[in-house]
Amino acid sequence: MYDVREELLEIVEETKQLHTRERSITLESVSLIGELERRNAAVNLSMTSEQFAVHIGLTPNQYWKRAQAARLIRFHPEAQKLLESGETQVSHLALIAPKITQANSELLLDGIKHKSKREVALLLSRITAEGDLLPAEATFELRVTLTKSQGELLDRAREVLANMRGGGRMPSLPEILVKALEDLLDKRDPLKKAERAKARAANSPSSGKEASDEVEAEADTVSNLASPGNGDQSPTKKSPSRPAIPAATRHTVWLRDRGQCTWVHPGGSRCPERGMLELDHIKMWCRGGDHSEDNLTLRCRRHNQVAAEQELGTGFMAQARKRAAGAASLAI
Ligand SMILES: [Zn+2]
Repeated sequence: MYDVREELLEIVEETKQLHTRERSITLESVSLIGELERRNAAVNLSMTSEQFAVHIGLTPNQYWKRAQAARLIRFHPEAQKLLESGETQVSHLALIAPKITQANSELLLDGIKHKSKREVALLLSRITAEGDLLPAEATFELRVTLTKSQGELLDRAREVLANMRGGGRMPSLPEILVKALEDLLDKRDPLKKAERAKARAANSPSSGKEASDEVEAEADTVSNLASPGNGDQSPTKKSPSRPAIPAATRHTVWLRDRGQCTWVHPGGSRCPERGMLELDHIKMWCRGGDHSEDNLTLRCRRHNQVAAEQELGTGFMAQARKRAAGAASLAI
């Protein structure tokens, strides 16, 4: 008698065996690629990594993932069982390869079983090299489109970061981004500069030279940010004889105002602006105000303008803008 169930079970069994074979073939491929990588095959056969990947029948991305998985299995052989059993896949091993350490390997390998790519990425963002699990933080996806030359910057940053960390571990995109942002803020954030200057002054009161060097760089940044028609530099243009604000004063004001606009709204709330800030003279320079800490405050561009209008009167400001426009064109 014809038995549908019997026949289906047979096909199911056949499929199951096929998938077992598929996993074992993948594993064999991973193992061979690992050997080719160790023996530097692409270089020795005078090919780029991309050419070599295509030559052996994979896309560069597939090749890269299998090479990463092979490296991981070499140092953490227990990962091989997860691939064999189908509890995880090559792409997940490639994802965790840059972050796995002896201390976190058990937690990490256990945590990727039967997980989606997104869940693996989330786990990676929480796990430390020491094997601790940080509280889950909300995540969001960031999509960027890069030109070829921008992509090359990213590739170079990846190489440099991989060299810095040693061990040939390729950093992930979020790791590259975070490191780049940390370096940028370390170098450019006026608040960090002020903190550094303060620490330096506390450690060695005689090292004034370095501090003044830093001011000049910072003064450049600020003048680049400030548009010429704003704040107390307008309507009377910044006089060439006006000295720069001393570094120590600048740093003190940034720290005191905690890198935020000090304008207080009528309701009593403080302006939250932390970007595009300018050092504003409370008593304007053109009216005899000086560069002392007490006469300086951080204001955003908009409130710098409002303060100037209050001080000089809106009529005066409007006339000044008109004069500026008239000088630029004959239309008015
Ligand atoms: Zn403001």
